[in-house]
Amino acid sequence: MLSLYLIELIIFILFITFVFLRNKIASKKAEIKQESGTASRKGSVVINTTHLEKNEKIYIIICVVFLIGLICQYLFEIPQMEFDKTSIEAKSSEDLTVPNTTYHFHNVTNEVTIEKGDFNKNITGVYKVRYKTKTLFGSYTKEVDISVVDTLAPEISLEGGENYNQSYAKVYTEPGVKAIDLNEGDLSDKIITTRENISDTEFNIKYEVQDSNNNKAQKIRHIVIVDDIPPVLNLNGQENMKVLIGQAYDEQGATAVDEKDGDVTNNIKTEGSVDTSKEGTYTITYTATDTKGNETKKTRTISVIKKVTANNGSTGQNSVIYLTFDDGPSTNITPKILDILSKKNVKATFFILNYDTAREAIVKREVNEGHTVAIHGYSHDYKTIYKSENAFMDNISKLREKIKNSTGYDSTIIRFPGGSSNTVSKFNPGIMTRLTAKVINSGYTYFDWNVDSNDAGSAKTSTQVYNNVTKNLSKNRANVVLMHDFSGNTKTLNALEDIINYSLNNGYSFEKITPNTPMVTHRVNN
Ligand code: ZN
Repeated sequence: MLSLYLIELIIFILFITFVFLRNKIASKKAEIKQESGTASRKGSVVINTTHLEKNEKIYIIICVVFLIGLICQYLFEIPQMEFDKTSIEAKSSEDLTVPNTTYHFHNVTNEVTIEKGDFNKNITGVYKVRYKTKTLFGSYTKEVDISVVDTLAPEISLEGGENYNQSYAKVYTEPGVKAIDLNEGDLSDKIITTRENISDTEFNIKYEVQDSNNNKAQKIRHIVIVDDIPPVLNLNGQENMKVLIGQAYDEQGATAVDEKDGDVTNNIKTEGSVDTSKEGTYTITYTATDTKGNETKKTRTISVIKKVTANNGSTGQNSVIYLTFDDGPSTNITPKILDILSKKNVKATFFILNYDTAREAIVKREVNEGHTVAIHGYSHDYKTIYKSENAFMDNISKLREKIKNSTGYDSTIIRFPGGSSNTVSKFNPGIMTRLTAKVINSGYTYFDWNVDSNDAGSAKTSTQVYNNVTKNLSKNRANVVLMHDFSGNTKTLNALEDIINYSLNNGYSFEKITPNTPMVTHRVNN
Protein backbone atom coordinates (compact mmCIF):
# COMPACT_ATOMS: atom_id res chain seq x y z
CA MET A 1 0.00 0.00 0.00
CA LEU A 2 2.77 2.32 1.03
CA SER A 3 4.66 1.69 -2.20
CA LEU A 4 1.64 2.65 -4.31
CA TYR A 5 1.56 6.07 -2.66
CA LEU A 6 5.32 6.40 -3.10
CA ILE A 7 5.11 5.64 -6.82
CA GLU A 8 2.31 8.14 -7.21
CA LEU A 9 4.29 10.76 -5.28
CA ILE A 10 7.47 10.14 -7.32
CA ILE A 11 5.49 10.48 -10.60
CA PHE A 12 4.00 13.72 -9.25
CA ILE A 13 7.43 15.16 -8.30
CA LEU A 14 8.88 14.17 -11.68
CA PHE A 15 5.91 15.89 -13.37
CA ILE A 16 6.33 19.12 -11.35
CA THR A 17 10.09 19.10 -12.09
CA PHE A 18 9.40 18.56 -15.76
CA VAL A 19 6.90 21.49 -15.81
CA PHE A 20 9.30 23.75 -13.92
CA LEU A 21 12.24 23.01 -16.24
CA ARG A 22 10.04 23.47 -19.31
CA ASN A 23 8.95 26.91 -18.07
CA LYS A 24 12.53 27.88 -17.35
CA ILE A 25 13.67 26.91 -20.89
CA ALA A 26 10.70 28.62 -22.42
CA SER A 27 11.33 31.93 -20.61
CA LYS A 28 15.07 31.81 -21.53
CA LYS A 29 14.14 31.45 -25.19
CA ALA A 30 11.73 34.38 -24.88
CA GLU A 31 14.46 36.61 -23.39
CA ILE A 32 16.84 35.84 -26.28
CA LYS A 33 14.16 36.64 -28.87
CA GLN A 34 13.32 39.88 -27.04
CA GLU A 35 16.94 41.02 -27.12
CA SER A 36 17.47 40.29 -30.87
CA GLY A 37 14.32 42.10 -32.20
CA THR A 38 13.54 44.77 -29.63
CA ALA A 39 11.92 47.47 -31.77
CA SER A 40 10.11 45.68 -34.57
CA ARG A 41 8.63 42.64 -32.71
CA LYS A 42 7.50 44.03 -29.39
CA GLY A 43 3.96 42.88 -30.05
CA SER A 44 4.89 39.22 -30.66
CA VAL A 45 6.76 38.99 -27.29
CA VAL A 46 3.59 39.94 -25.49
CA ILE A 47 1.79 37.26 -27.34
CA ASN A 48 4.46 34.65 -26.33
CA THR A 49 4.30 35.65 -22.68
CA THR A 50 0.55 35.18 -22.69
CA HIS A 51 0.99 31.72 -24.25
CA LEU A 52 3.37 30.70 -21.35
CA GLU A 53 0.92 31.85 -18.68
CA LYS A 54 -1.80 29.77 -20.26
CA ASN A 55 0.33 26.62 -20.08
CA GLU A 56 1.20 27.23 -16.43
CA LYS A 57 -2.47 27.41 -15.53
CA ILE A 58 -3.12 24.05 -17.13
CA TYR A 59 -0.21 22.56 -15.28
CA ILE A 60 -1.37 23.96 -11.99
CA ILE A 61 -4.85 22.57 -12.58
CA ILE A 62 -3.41 19.14 -13.33
CA CYS A 63 -1.32 19.34 -10.18
CA VAL A 64 -4.27 20.32 -8.03
CA VAL A 65 -6.44 17.56 -9.48
CA PHE A 66 -3.65 15.09 -8.91
CA LEU A 67 -3.23 16.25 -5.30
CA ILE A 68 -6.97 16.07 -4.70
CA GLY A 69 -6.90 12.57 -6.13
CA LEU A 70 -4.12 11.57 -3.78
CA ILE A 71 -5.95 13.00 -0.78
CA CYS A 72 -9.20 11.30 -1.75
CA GLN A 73 -7.40 8.02 -2.21
CA TYR A 74 -6.01 8.40 1.30
CA LEU A 75 -9.30 9.40 2.86
CA PHE A 76 -11.36 6.70 1.25
CA GLU A 77 -8.75 3.92 1.33
CA ILE A 78 -10.04 0.37 1.78
CA PRO A 79 -8.22 -1.69 4.45
CA GLN A 80 -6.21 -4.54 2.91
CA MET A 81 -6.96 -7.95 4.43
CA GLU A 82 -4.75 -10.92 3.77
CA PHE A 83 -6.14 -14.36 4.59
CA ASP A 84 -3.74 -17.20 5.39
CA LYS A 85 -6.44 -19.78 5.01
CA THR A 86 -10.05 -19.89 4.05
CA SER A 87 -10.62 -23.55 4.85
CA ILE A 88 -10.66 -25.20 8.25
CA GLU A 89 -10.40 -28.88 9.17
CA ALA A 90 -13.67 -29.86 10.82
CA LYS A 91 -13.53 -30.63 14.57
CA SER A 92 -9.78 -30.01 14.57
CA SER A 93 -7.89 -27.58 16.74
CA GLU A 94 -7.97 -25.05 13.89
CA ASP A 95 -10.30 -22.07 14.23
CA LEU A 96 -11.10 -18.78 12.50
CA THR A 97 -8.21 -16.34 12.59
CA VAL A 98 -8.13 -12.57 12.11
CA PRO A 99 -6.68 -11.64 8.68
CA ASN A 100 -3.47 -9.68 8.49
CA THR A 101 -4.81 -6.18 7.86
CA THR A 102 -3.14 -2.85 6.95
CA TYR A 103 -4.72 0.58 6.75
CA HIS A 104 -3.06 3.97 6.20
CA PHE A 105 0.38 2.48 6.02
CA HIS A 106 0.17 0.55 9.29
CA ASN A 107 -0.95 -2.81 10.63
CA VAL A 108 -4.43 -2.82 12.17
CA THR A 109 -4.89 -6.57 12.49
CA ASN A 110 -5.69 -6.25 16.19
CA GLU A 111 -8.61 -3.96 15.37
CA VAL A 112 -10.37 -6.51 13.17
CA THR A 113 -13.42 -8.26 14.64
CA ILE A 114 -15.09 -11.41 13.32
CA GLU A 115 -18.81 -11.84 12.91
CA LYS A 116 -19.15 -15.59 12.77
CA GLY A 117 -22.79 -15.77 11.73
CA ASP A 118 -23.87 -19.42 11.53
CA PHE A 119 -20.29 -20.64 11.18
CA ASN A 120 -19.97 -24.08 12.83
CA LYS A 121 -16.58 -25.73 12.98
CA ASN A 122 -18.14 -29.12 13.68
CA ILE A 123 -20.20 -29.35 10.49
CA THR A 124 -18.60 -29.41 7.06
CA GLY A 125 -19.82 -26.77 4.56
CA VAL A 126 -19.19 -23.22 3.30
CA TYR A 127 -20.00 -20.32 5.64
CA LYS A 128 -20.14 -16.56 5.10
CA VAL A 129 -17.95 -14.95 7.71
CA ARG A 130 -17.64 -11.16 8.07
CA TYR A 131 -14.43 -9.37 9.06
CA LYS A 132 -14.89 -5.85 10.26
CA THR A 133 -12.51 -3.00 11.01
CA LYS A 134 -12.82 0.77 11.66
CA THR A 135 -12.01 3.34 8.97
CA LEU A 136 -11.75 7.13 8.99
CA PHE A 137 -15.44 7.71 8.33
CA GLY A 138 -16.98 4.52 9.78
CA SER A 139 -16.13 0.92 9.23
CA TYR A 140 -15.17 -1.57 6.56
CA THR A 141 -16.62 -5.10 6.36
CA LYS A 142 -15.37 -7.91 4.20
CA GLU A 143 -17.47 -11.04 3.71
CA VAL A 144 -15.44 -14.18 3.03
CA ASP A 145 -16.44 -17.73 2.21
CA ILE A 146 -14.87 -20.02 4.77
CA SER A 147 -15.04 -23.76 4.14
CA VAL A 148 -15.18 -26.33 6.89
CA VAL A 149 -13.71 -29.47 5.33
CA ASP A 150 -12.98 -33.04 6.31
CA THR A 151 -9.69 -34.18 4.80
CA LEU A 152 -8.57 -36.38 7.70
CA ALA A 153 -8.67 -40.14 7.33
CA PRO A 154 -9.96 -42.30 10.16
CA GLU A 155 -7.31 -43.63 12.53
CA ILE A 156 -6.90 -47.40 12.78
CA SER A 157 -5.55 -48.79 16.03
CA LEU A 158 -4.53 -52.41 16.49
CA GLU A 159 -4.83 -54.07 19.86
CA GLY A 160 -1.94 -56.43 20.35
CA GLY A 161 0.25 -54.33 18.06
CA GLU A 162 1.35 -54.50 14.45
CA ASN A 163 3.63 -57.43 15.11
CA TYR A 164 1.69 -60.23 16.67
CA ASN A 165 2.79 -63.66 17.83
CA GLN A 166 0.17 -66.32 17.49
CA SER A 167 0.41 -69.58 19.37
CA TYR A 168 0.36 -72.50 16.96
CA ALA A 169 -1.90 -74.33 19.38
CA LYS A 170 -4.73 -71.85 18.94
CA VAL A 171 -6.85 -70.77 16.02
CA TYR A 172 -6.13 -67.15 15.07
CA THR A 173 -8.71 -64.84 16.47
CA GLU A 174 -8.69 -61.12 15.79
CA PRO A 175 -6.91 -59.50 18.74
CA GLY A 176 -9.00 -56.35 18.25
CA VAL A 177 -9.05 -53.42 15.84
CA LYS A 178 -10.67 -50.00 16.00
CA ALA A 179 -11.17 -47.18 13.51
CA ILE A 180 -12.01 -43.77 14.89
CA ASP A 181 -12.81 -40.83 12.63
CA LEU A 182 -12.63 -37.31 13.98
CA ASN A 183 -15.91 -36.42 12.33
CA GLU A 184 -17.82 -39.64 12.12
CA GLY A 185 -16.78 -41.35 15.31
CA ASP A 186 -16.36 -45.10 15.53
CA LEU A 187 -16.09 -46.65 12.07
CA SER A 188 -14.81 -50.02 13.37
CA ASP A 189 -17.67 -51.93 11.76
CA LYS A 190 -16.70 -50.48 8.36
CA ILE A 191 -13.22 -51.97 8.45
CA ILE A 192 -12.52 -54.41 5.64
CA THR A 193 -9.92 -57.04 6.47
CA THR A 194 -7.95 -59.10 4.00
CA ARG A 195 -5.61 -61.94 4.83
CA GLU A 196 -2.38 -62.30 2.86
CA ASN A 197 -0.46 -65.51 3.44
CA ILE A 198 3.31 -65.19 3.41
CA SER A 199 4.38 -68.67 4.50
CA ASP A 200 3.20 -71.54 6.68
CA THR A 201 4.17 -69.62 9.77
CA GLU A 202 3.55 -66.03 8.70
CA PHE A 203 0.70 -63.98 7.33
CA ASN A 204 -0.52 -60.41 7.16
CA ILE A 205 -3.92 -58.99 7.90
CA LYS A 206 -4.70 -55.80 6.01
CA TYR A 207 -7.27 -53.44 7.54
CA GLU A 208 -8.86 -50.78 5.33
CA VAL A 209 -11.48 -48.20 6.15
CA GLN A 210 -12.79 -44.98 4.63
CA ASP A 211 -15.04 -42.24 5.91
CA SER A 212 -17.96 -40.72 4.00
CA ASN A 213 -15.65 -38.04 2.55
CA ASN A 214 -13.52 -40.76 0.96
CA ASN A 215 -10.64 -40.26 3.31
CA LYS A 216 -8.93 -43.65 3.43
CA ALA A 217 -6.80 -45.37 6.03
CA GLN A 218 -4.93 -48.65 5.97
CA LYS A 219 -2.92 -50.70 8.43
CA ILE A 220 -1.20 -54.06 8.26
CA ARG A 221 -0.70 -56.52 11.05
CA HIS A 222 2.13 -59.01 10.70
CA ILE A 223 1.39 -62.33 12.37
CA VAL A 224 4.00 -64.96 13.17
CA ILE A 225 2.88 -68.38 14.30
CA VAL A 226 5.05 -69.44 17.21
CA ASP A 227 5.51 -72.37 19.54
CA ASP A 228 4.84 -70.91 22.98
CA ILE A 229 3.56 -74.05 24.66
CA PRO A 230 5.91 -75.23 27.39
CA PRO A 231 6.39 -78.93 28.10
CA VAL A 232 4.17 -80.66 30.63
CA LEU A 233 6.26 -81.56 33.65
CA ASN A 234 5.31 -84.25 36.12
CA LEU A 235 7.13 -85.11 39.32
CA ASN A 236 7.62 -88.76 40.05
CA GLY A 237 6.50 -89.37 43.60
CA GLN A 238 5.18 -86.78 46.02
CA GLU A 239 5.38 -83.03 45.69
CA ASN A 240 5.76 -82.73 49.45
CA MET A 241 8.01 -85.32 50.96
CA LYS A 242 9.27 -86.02 54.41
CA VAL A 243 12.47 -87.82 55.28
CA LEU A 244 13.60 -88.85 58.71
CA ILE A 245 17.01 -87.57 59.80
CA GLY A 246 19.67 -90.06 58.80
CA GLN A 247 17.51 -91.82 56.24
CA ALA A 248 18.45 -91.66 52.60
CA TYR A 249 16.56 -89.27 50.36
CA ASP A 250 15.36 -91.10 47.31
CA GLU A 251 15.34 -88.72 44.34
CA GLN A 252 12.60 -89.95 42.07
CA GLY A 253 13.02 -87.36 39.35
CA ALA A 254 10.43 -86.08 36.92
CA THR A 255 9.21 -86.59 33.39
CA ALA A 256 8.40 -84.02 30.72
CA VAL A 257 6.53 -84.20 27.44
CA ASP A 258 6.33 -81.37 24.91
CA GLU A 259 3.58 -81.11 22.32
CA LYS A 260 6.07 -80.39 19.51
CA ASP A 261 9.25 -82.06 20.72
CA GLY A 262 7.77 -85.15 22.37
CA ASP A 263 9.57 -86.57 25.38
CA VAL A 264 11.99 -83.97 26.78
CA THR A 265 12.68 -85.75 30.08
CA ASN A 266 16.40 -85.76 29.25
CA ASN A 267 16.41 -81.94 29.14
CA ILE A 268 15.08 -81.57 32.69
CA LYS A 269 17.43 -79.60 34.91
CA THR A 270 17.34 -80.30 38.62
CA GLU A 271 18.50 -77.74 41.15
CA GLY A 272 18.80 -78.06 44.91
CA SER A 273 19.84 -80.73 47.33
CA VAL A 274 18.71 -82.39 50.53
CA ASP A 275 20.91 -82.73 53.59
CA THR A 276 19.31 -85.59 55.46
CA SER A 277 21.67 -85.12 58.39
CA LYS A 278 20.04 -81.79 59.24
CA GLU A 279 16.47 -81.03 60.22
CA GLY A 280 14.90 -78.51 57.86
CA THR A 281 12.91 -77.89 54.72
CA TYR A 282 14.66 -78.34 51.38
CA THR A 283 13.46 -77.67 47.88
CA ILE A 284 14.40 -79.23 44.58
CA THR A 285 13.42 -77.36 41.44
CA TYR A 286 12.88 -79.17 38.16
CA THR A 287 12.97 -77.19 34.91
CA ALA A 288 11.85 -78.71 31.63
CA THR A 289 12.67 -76.82 28.43
CA ASP A 290 11.59 -77.42 24.84
CA THR A 291 13.66 -76.55 21.75
CA LYS A 292 11.98 -73.15 21.51
CA GLY A 293 13.04 -72.30 25.05
CA ASN A 294 9.60 -72.57 26.65
CA GLU A 295 10.01 -73.57 30.28
CA THR A 296 8.00 -75.33 32.92
CA LYS A 297 9.17 -75.36 36.52
CA LYS A 298 8.05 -77.46 39.43
CA THR A 299 9.32 -77.65 42.94
CA ARG A 300 9.44 -80.50 45.38
CA THR A 301 9.57 -79.74 49.06
CA ILE A 302 11.42 -82.19 51.28
CA SER A 303 11.17 -81.86 55.04
CA VAL A 304 13.87 -83.59 56.98
CA ILE A 305 12.26 -84.34 60.32
CA LYS A 306 13.16 -86.06 63.51
CA LYS A 307 11.29 -88.86 65.13
CA VAL A 308 10.91 -89.09 68.86
CA THR A 309 10.29 -92.41 70.49
CA ALA A 310 7.28 -92.24 72.71
CA ASN A 311 8.71 -93.05 76.08
CA ASN A 312 12.01 -91.31 76.46
CA GLY A 313 12.56 -88.76 73.76
CA SER A 314 12.36 -85.06 74.33
CA THR A 315 10.82 -83.05 71.54
CA GLY A 316 12.00 -79.83 73.08
CA GLN A 317 8.38 -79.14 73.92
CA ASN A 318 8.39 -79.92 77.62
CA SER A 319 5.14 -79.86 79.60
CA VAL A 320 3.04 -79.75 76.46
CA ILE A 321 -0.06 -81.92 76.23
CA TYR A 322 -1.54 -83.01 72.93
CA LEU A 323 -5.05 -84.30 73.61
CA THR A 324 -5.95 -86.73 70.85
CA PHE A 325 -9.36 -88.34 70.23
CA ASP A 326 -9.61 -91.43 68.01
CA ASP A 327 -12.41 -93.19 66.15
CA GLY A 328 -14.86 -90.24 65.99
CA PRO A 329 -16.81 -88.31 65.13
CA SER A 330 -19.87 -89.48 67.07
CA THR A 331 -23.10 -87.57 67.35
CA ASN A 332 -23.55 -88.06 71.09
CA ILE A 333 -19.98 -87.58 72.40
CA THR A 334 -17.92 -85.44 70.01
CA PRO A 335 -20.11 -82.26 70.18
CA LYS A 336 -19.99 -82.36 74.00
CA ILE A 337 -16.21 -82.78 73.93
CA LEU A 338 -16.04 -79.79 71.60
CA ASP A 339 -18.18 -77.81 74.06
CA ILE A 340 -15.75 -78.53 76.92
CA LEU A 341 -12.68 -77.74 74.78
CA SER A 342 -14.33 -74.51 73.71
CA LYS A 343 -15.22 -73.58 77.30
CA LYS A 344 -11.63 -74.24 78.46
CA ASN A 345 -10.13 -72.74 75.29
CA VAL A 346 -8.08 -75.86 74.61
CA LYS A 347 -7.16 -77.05 71.09
CA ALA A 348 -7.01 -80.80 70.44
CA THR A 349 -6.44 -83.29 67.62
CA PHE A 350 -9.14 -85.63 66.25
CA PHE A 351 -7.97 -88.76 64.40
CA ILE A 352 -11.20 -89.48 62.60
CA LEU A 353 -12.75 -92.34 60.65
CA ASN A 354 -15.13 -92.15 57.71
CA TYR A 355 -18.28 -90.19 58.51
CA ASP A 356 -21.77 -89.93 57.06
CA THR A 357 -23.59 -86.77 55.99
CA ALA A 358 -25.16 -86.38 59.41
CA ARG A 359 -21.71 -86.19 61.05
CA GLU A 360 -20.08 -83.99 58.40
CA ALA A 361 -21.14 -80.91 60.37
CA ILE A 362 -19.16 -82.16 63.37
CA VAL A 363 -15.99 -82.47 61.25
CA LYS A 364 -16.58 -78.96 59.96
CA ARG A 365 -17.07 -77.72 63.49
CA GLU A 366 -13.76 -79.30 64.55
CA VAL A 367 -11.96 -77.39 61.80
CA ASN A 368 -13.87 -74.16 62.39
CA GLU A 369 -13.10 -74.18 66.11
CA GLY A 370 -9.39 -74.46 65.40
CA HIS A 371 -8.73 -78.11 66.17
CA THR A 372 -6.68 -80.42 63.99
CA VAL A 373 -8.61 -82.95 61.96
CA ALA A 374 -6.21 -85.82 61.35
CA ILE A 375 -6.55 -89.13 59.54
CA HIS A 376 -7.14 -92.41 61.33
CA GLY A 377 -8.50 -94.09 58.21
CA TYR A 378 -11.52 -94.48 55.99
CA SER A 379 -11.87 -97.96 57.52
CA HIS A 380 -10.59 -99.28 60.85
CA ASP A 381 -10.73 -102.92 59.78
CA TYR A 382 -7.22 -104.35 60.32
CA LYS A 383 -7.67 -107.23 57.86
CA THR A 384 -8.59 -104.87 55.07
CA ILE A 385 -6.25 -101.96 55.65
CA TYR A 386 -3.06 -103.92 56.40
CA LYS A 387 -3.61 -106.32 53.51
CA SER A 388 -1.11 -104.37 51.38
CA GLU A 389 0.71 -101.06 51.28
CA ASN A 390 -1.57 -99.85 48.50
CA ALA A 391 -4.64 -100.84 50.49
CA PHE A 392 -3.37 -98.77 53.42
CA MET A 393 -2.40 -95.76 51.29
CA ASP A 394 -5.81 -95.85 49.62
CA ASN A 395 -7.46 -96.03 53.02
CA ILE A 396 -5.85 -92.77 54.14
CA SER A 397 -6.00 -90.88 50.84
CA LYS A 398 -9.70 -91.65 50.49
CA LEU A 399 -10.42 -90.02 53.83
CA ARG A 400 -7.99 -87.19 53.13
CA GLU A 401 -9.95 -86.33 49.97
CA LYS A 402 -13.23 -86.48 51.84
CA ILE A 403 -12.00 -84.15 54.58
CA LYS A 404 -10.69 -81.78 51.92
CA ASN A 405 -14.07 -81.75 50.20
CA SER A 406 -15.97 -81.23 53.46
CA THR A 407 -13.76 -78.58 55.04
CA GLY A 408 -11.16 -77.40 52.55
CA TYR A 409 -8.51 -78.57 55.02
CA ASP A 410 -5.78 -80.86 53.64
CA SER A 411 -4.71 -83.18 56.42
CA THR A 412 -1.29 -84.88 56.28
CA ILE A 413 -1.21 -86.16 59.86
CA ILE A 414 -2.10 -89.80 60.50
CA ARG A 415 -2.39 -92.35 63.28
CA PHE A 416 -2.20 -96.01 62.32
CA PRO A 417 -5.22 -97.97 63.55
CA GLY A 418 -3.78 -100.00 66.41
CA GLY A 419 -0.73 -97.72 66.47
CA SER A 420 2.52 -98.16 64.52
CA SER A 421 3.57 -100.75 67.14
CA ASN A 422 0.56 -102.97 66.46
CA THR A 423 0.87 -106.70 66.07
CA VAL A 424 -2.59 -107.15 64.58
CA SER A 425 -0.99 -106.66 61.16
CA LYS A 426 1.34 -109.61 61.56
CA PHE A 427 -0.72 -111.58 59.07
CA ASN A 428 1.23 -109.42 56.59
CA PRO A 429 4.82 -109.69 57.80
CA GLY A 430 6.88 -106.49 57.81
CA ILE A 431 4.08 -104.27 56.62
CA MET A 432 4.40 -101.78 59.51
CA THR A 433 8.13 -101.41 58.81
CA ARG A 434 7.36 -100.67 55.21
CA LEU A 435 4.38 -98.42 55.91
CA THR A 436 6.07 -96.25 58.54
CA ALA A 437 8.73 -95.37 55.95
CA LYS A 438 6.30 -95.04 53.10
CA VAL A 439 3.88 -92.64 54.76
CA ILE A 440 6.73 -90.32 55.67
CA ASN A 441 8.16 -90.36 52.16
CA SER A 442 4.65 -89.63 50.92
CA GLY A 443 4.54 -86.41 52.89
CA TYR A 444 2.67 -87.54 56.00
CA THR A 445 3.69 -87.52 59.63
CA TYR A 446 2.30 -90.10 62.01
CA PHE A 447 1.70 -90.04 65.71
CA ASP A 448 1.38 -92.72 68.35
CA TRP A 449 0.98 -91.78 72.04
CA ASN A 450 2.84 -91.86 75.32
CA VAL A 451 -0.10 -91.36 77.69
CA ASP A 452 -2.90 -93.90 77.33
CA SER A 453 -6.22 -93.16 78.99
CA ASN A 454 -7.14 -96.79 78.32
CA ASP A 455 -10.70 -95.67 77.59
CA ALA A 456 -10.91 -98.29 74.86
CA GLY A 457 -9.49 -100.95 77.17
CA SER A 458 -9.38 -101.52 80.92
CA ALA A 459 -10.76 -98.17 82.13
CA LYS A 460 -14.45 -98.50 82.97
CA THR A 461 -15.14 -95.24 84.84
CA SER A 462 -14.32 -91.58 84.39
CA THR A 463 -12.18 -91.72 87.52
CA GLN A 464 -10.07 -94.47 85.98
CA VAL A 465 -9.69 -92.42 82.79
CA TYR A 466 -8.73 -89.37 84.87
CA ASN A 467 -6.14 -91.34 86.85
CA ASN A 468 -4.67 -93.07 83.79
CA VAL A 469 -4.02 -89.72 82.18
CA THR A 470 -2.92 -87.54 85.07
CA LYS A 471 -0.60 -90.15 86.58
CA ASN A 472 1.29 -90.64 83.33
CA LEU A 473 1.84 -87.01 82.36
CA SER A 474 5.47 -85.97 82.44
CA LYS A 475 6.95 -82.49 82.54
CA ASN A 476 10.05 -83.49 80.60
CA ARG A 477 8.46 -84.26 77.29
CA ALA A 478 5.62 -83.65 74.93
CA ASN A 479 2.68 -85.72 76.19
CA VAL A 480 0.50 -87.26 73.50
CA VAL A 481 -2.67 -88.42 75.27
CA LEU A 482 -4.73 -91.17 73.64
CA MET A 483 -8.48 -90.91 74.18
CA HIS A 484 -11.54 -91.83 72.13
CA ASP A 485 -14.66 -89.93 71.13
CA PHE A 486 -16.54 -92.94 69.73
CA SER A 487 -20.24 -93.20 70.40
CA GLY A 488 -21.27 -93.69 74.07
CA ASN A 489 -17.81 -93.01 75.55
CA THR A 490 -19.18 -91.00 78.48
CA LYS A 491 -16.35 -91.92 80.84
CA THR A 492 -13.86 -89.88 78.81
CA LEU A 493 -16.38 -87.08 78.30
CA ASN A 494 -16.96 -86.89 82.04
CA ALA A 495 -13.24 -86.98 82.89
CA LEU A 496 -12.15 -84.41 80.30
CA GLU A 497 -12.78 -81.17 82.17
CA ASP A 498 -11.08 -82.48 85.31
CA ILE A 499 -8.07 -83.63 83.27
CA ILE A 500 -7.79 -80.16 81.72
CA ASN A 501 -8.12 -78.46 85.11
CA TYR A 502 -5.49 -80.74 86.68
CA SER A 503 -3.08 -80.09 83.79
CA LEU A 504 -3.49 -76.33 83.85
CA ASN A 505 -3.08 -76.27 87.64
CA ASN A 506 0.14 -78.26 87.30
CA GLY A 507 1.88 -76.10 84.75
CA TYR A 508 1.03 -77.91 81.54
CA SER A 509 -0.09 -76.24 78.35
CA PHE A 510 -2.21 -77.66 75.51
CA GLU A 511 -1.43 -77.69 71.85
CA LYS A 512 -2.86 -79.30 68.76
CA ILE A 513 -0.71 -81.39 66.44
CA THR A 514 0.37 -79.61 63.25
CA PRO A 515 2.41 -80.79 60.25
CA ASN A 516 5.46 -79.26 61.98
CA THR A 517 4.99 -81.07 65.28
CA PRO A 518 7.85 -83.53 65.88
CA MET A 519 6.53 -87.07 65.61
CA VAL A 520 5.99 -89.09 68.77
CA THR A 521 6.06 -92.75 67.80
CA HIS A 522 6.27 -96.28 69.12
CA ARG A 523 8.76 -98.95 68.25
CA VAL A 524 7.62 -100.86 65.20
CA ASN A 525 6.88 -104.52 65.98
CA ASN A 526 6.06 -105.83 62.56
ZN1 ZN B 1 -8.74 -96.52 66.52
